[in-house]
Amino acid sequence: MSTAMYPHLLSPLKVGALQLKNRVIMGSMHLGVEEQADGLQRMAAFYAERAAGGAALIITGGIAPNSAGRLTADGTVLDTEAAAHQHRTITTAVHNAGGLIAAQLLHAGRYGAHTELVAPSAIQAPISPLTPRQLSANEVADTIADFARAAKLAQLAGYDGVEIMGSEGYLINQFLAPRTNQRTDEWGGSAAKRHRFAVEIVRRVREEVGDNFAIIFRLSMLDLVADGSELAEVLELARKIEAAGADMLGTGIGWHESRVPTIATTVPRGAFTWITDRVARAVTIPVSATNRINTPDLAEKILADTAASAVTLARPFLADPQFVQKASAGRAQHINTCIACNQACLDHVFSGKPASCLVNPRAGRETELVIAPAVKTKQIAVVGAGPAGLSCAVTLAQRGHSVTLFDSDTKIGGQLNIAMQIPGKTEFAETLRYFKTQLAAHGVTVKLGREVSAASLTQGGFDEVVLATGVTPRRPELPGVDLPHVKSYLSVLRDGAPVGRRALILGAGGIGFDTALFLTASDGDSDHDSSSESPEATATFLRDWGVDPEYRAQGALTRPASRSAVPRQVTMLQRSSGKPGARLGKTTGWIHRAELQQRGVQLFGGVEYLAIEEAGLRARIDGKERLLEADTIVLCTGQETNRLLADSLDAAGVKYHLIGGAHTASELDAKRAIRQGTELGAAL
Ligand code: FAD
Ligand code: NAP
Ligand code: SF4
Repeated sequence: MSTAMYPHLLSPLKVGALQLKNRVIMGSMHLGVEEQADGLQRMAAFYAERAAGGAALIITGGIAPNSAGRLTADGTVLDTEAAAHQHRTITTAVHNAGGLIAAQLLHAGRYGAHTELVAPSAIQAPISPLTPRQLSANEVADTIADFARAAKLAQLAGYDGVEIMGSEGYLINQFLAPRTNQRTDEWGGSAAKRHRFAVEIVRRVREEVGDNFAIIFRLSMLDLVADGSELAEVLELARKIEAAGADMLGTGIGWHESRVPTIATTVPRGAFTWITDRVARAVTIPVSATNRINTPDLAEKILADTAASAVTLARPFLADPQFVQKASAGRAQHINTCIACNQACLDHVFSGKPASCLVNPRAGRETELVIAPAVKTKQIAVVGAGPAGLSCAVTLAQRGHSVTLFDSDTKIGGQLNIAMQIPGKTEFAETLRYFKTQLAAHGVTVKLGREVSAASLTQGGFDEVVLATGVTPRRPELPGVDLPHVKSYLSVLRDGAPVGRRALILGAGGIGFDTALFLTASDGDSDHDSSSESPEATATFLRDWGVDPEYRAQGALTRPASRSAVPRQVTMLQRSSGKPGARLGKTTGWIHRAELQQRGVQLFGGVEYLAIEEAGLRARIDGKERLLEADTIVLCTGQETNRLLADSLDAAGVKYHLIGGAHTASELDAKRAIRQGTELGAAL
């Protein structure tokens, strides 16, 4: 293994009795397959692929130490020897692949989505419809014993260690912070008493498992909620956790109920490593940095420049199981980079669907979406180099087919080239870089800058034709829609059409919101280039979202700075009633709504469009006819399937396969486009 490029990242690290082969830990992720009938086999395949790909240590999704601590009614609990024996399927698979694995012990406390939920005090979480029951002092002691028992059972199951989840607002964190701990007994009140639960858990776990078993404690370094912990308390707790027997500290940033983005694409890369650095300087055990670390170069820089000893990456291992292996082999350009969109991972989990990955649809489906060599190799034409066509072409070529990819544009990427223009979405450039390297690596013939016709396809001698020709913007039938101040989102975002000081956006879907962000962004906005790794981008982001890097108040919160002046007044409309933006991503929609609110964008639902006039839009809102004045009207009114080529192939009697927007325009996104492309590529 060459360590020349990444001398820090690829050097070994001792974590207690464990010897890690490099500094990259795969962080805990709940995939939502754990509870399924074949969940253990699926998890085993998922983890084994990541172990084989070079992760030094894998941390499982959260496992509850007792029934009250489950995340959901059917959540995994480790409380019997029988349960421990079942976990051997996972630990054996990881060990056989040359990896190490630790079980994360997580008690959900008041975040539990079931009726048995408990907490230090009976205070309802703002993100939960349920009020927890306060634990009695005896039950607190029992819960500590349950953590110790679960750790012992994890040892029996063959795990190499445990991570005790002390952050993100779960039970241990609830004991630590005055926000959720209003007890007056020996478990609440002073910082020392609030810390006792966490410290006792670590001490009892160490007693139970002996010295040859790693204990990692995930410490909430920034609570990012009102009445959270203070910096002095966090540093003091870190020292106490070390003294109680932990081998390593992991970084926890923000509670789930925090209103500061912590991992979304709006967050600049590596934006929270400063606090890990500060904590790492207060202890002698290794501390791992986390959040928005998605490239080996950035990880190397963090290890070189800060006191962190390791990096913990979670979503980047969904995007590419071979992250470490590719970095070690000097092939970082081949890494499929996590773009922090949350669309197929967290958004799925929070909607009760199994997690996967937008850029890697095999994630979590390793046993069913298998990319095997083709039995009979064929000549295949793929028309359209958007995400659907790209993923299909690469998968087909990986399997040995001879593939020609066409696009009328002079560059690959389709609509992703437009998405990349949106503040906060610059990470899509990594996806295009990845596809570009894969097209070359697998020998796909790429023909750009030419519109493909039915005739050229029939003369090409192809065995199969795949159409990935995408969508065209919908132009609603509305009087005045052809007036010169009416523009499509394409002409604004792609072609740079000028937009006046007062703009109306028709349509409040994903593209409407993105266009509003684009039109109201000013040069000083932190989310201009979210793939930036500059200290300035982090400073602006922290300032915009009210995070105090000096950590002067509880939870490290301060007043968000007012944004720079917006360049224009924007109003966004939709015809349907209800809250505009309700269908945006489950874990990111609130961020976009908050950003638009800060920029003074007005949103109206239940609008009836009557006609476009020179002075603006005539519309009916709440039963009243009004003229909404505007000098530019931007149409973000959905899209329609581009059937031009399909229709002429039908006429010529040529058979074809449809994927992405060419297949169905409704509810199209890059996630579906890449999934359909990969699935067809694996099947032909
Ligand atoms: P396209 O990307 O439209 O690609 C089709 C390609 O076919 C084009 O390159 C076109 O030139 C080519 N083509 C068409 N006809 C021919 C022909 N006859 N000959 C040769 N070439 C042809 N999705 C998300 O999941 N997350 C996001 O955050 C997100 N943000 C977005 C933001 C914006 C502003 C926009 C516009 C879209 C966004 N999307 C997002 C949507 C996503 O980009 C699309 O769903 C996706 O690109 C559709 O993929 P596709 O391959 O089906 O089609
Ligand atoms: P969309 O989300 O379906 O929204 C289309 C909008 O147009 C809606 O507000 C719709 O609502 C309106 N509309 C539909 N037909 C209309 C008509 N005939 N006249 C007037 N208005 C009409 O689609 P999109 O915004 O075009 O986005 C396309 C795809 O890209 C979406 O599937 C989206 O998921 C994806 N995308 C995702 C993201 C992301 O961050 N995840 C970002 C951008 C895009 P009303 O009918 O109520 O007005
Ligand atoms: Fe990263 Fe998006 Fe994949 Fe989640 S779905 S792992 S955020 S690229």
